Amino acid sequence: MKKGHEGKLFVISGPSGVGKGTLRARALEGFDDLVYSISCTTRPPREGEREGMDYRFISEQEFLERVRQGQFLEYARVHGAFYGTLRSDVERDLAAGLDVLLEIDVQGALQVKQLLPSQAILIFVSPPSVEELERRLRWRHTETEDKIRVRIANAKEELLQADKYDHVVLNDDLFRAAEELKNIIYEYRGKVGIKSEIL
Ligand code: ADP
Ligand code: 5GP
Repeated sequence: MKKGHEGKLFVISGPSGVGKGTLRARALEGFDDLVYSISCTTRPPREGEREGMDYRFISEQEFLERVRQGQFLEYARVHGAFYGTLRSDVERDLAAGLDVLLEIDVQGALQVKQLLPSQAILIFVSPPSVEELERRLRWRHTETEDKIRVRIANAKEELLQADKYDHVVLNDDLFRAAEELKNIIYEYRGKVGIKSEIL
């Protein structure tokens, strides 16, 4: 849907296993013209993940070539793999007046805020406790024990960065947290919507 102005960029971050993917899916269900930007990554696909739906799975060589060509709006090395947001997709959607949702790590989120300070809204998802985070990560059964340990160690660092975000959503009860996230998005889009009706 064209609104005649540039869209907003909602950036969700938080430690691995906190529930970002789950909350993202609920947010996307809630808004018709909110589009999700599918990242590139060099990590191998998990069982059930689909090429071009969850990520664009590419080799490290291809990733570095794309970096060289300036294709990424932001990128970072996270838990030992590269992840990046393609500039072309995001710029096209924002210029078309669509709002875009990114689910990226803290390093990437801060890069985006610096690049697009008036369009980016940073939302940090935090866990009720590190113990609960570990439990969720284990229940998901997608990571080996070694990888879980790396992700938990990184989580402690990531949690220290929450105060750099515009909003912090505590993912305690899933339904409540999803409503809070949708309300934040609605609030920004609401302001935009009223303006575009007047214009
Ligand atoms: P992330 O994308 O942040 O790595 P996921 O969305 O994959 O995290 O969630 C990790 C696991 O925790 C999943 O098994 C998910 O079903 C579960 N989960 C998500 N939110 C909650 C919640 N509020 N309470 C309990 N379990 C949750
Ligand atoms: P996972 O391997 O669990 O899918 O993701 C690991 C971490 O990488 C998460 O914190 C996720 O948000 C982050 N991530 C996913 N895509 C991107 C991206 O395009 N850029 C950055 N900087 N981080 C990303």
